[in-house]
Amino acid sequence: MKKLNQTQAIRAFCTECIVDTSVGGNGKPLTQITNCTAHDCPLYHHRPLDGDAKAVEKQKKIDAMSPEEFKAYQEKCDIAKERFNKLRSEGKLDG
Ligand code: SF4
Repeated sequence: MKKLNQTQAIRAFCTECIVDTSVGGNGKPLTQITNCTAHDCPLYHHRPLDGDAKAVEKQKKIDAMSPEEFKAYQEKCDIAKERFNKLRSEGKLDG
């Protein structure tokens, strides 16, 4: 079995847990995971979300930040973007 990173492992676990793959199932896999209602599940806050839900969650976090927290958040984002772009330019990332 292929070794998964943390994000892939959570997605795989959630997929196995909730995704209905039968014909006429409950929509796209990511939408089904997004719509999970098991708030007590340890993976609930780490589950992958579809694009719209992800944007809403991100905005909620930003809205709850103090100006200092938001500044620190932006600095971390800039560092992450820089690292990502460096890895991409070195061909160490797919896509
Ligand atoms: S978050 Fe929801 S879909 Fe993911 S493992 Fe928990 S109960 Fe299953």
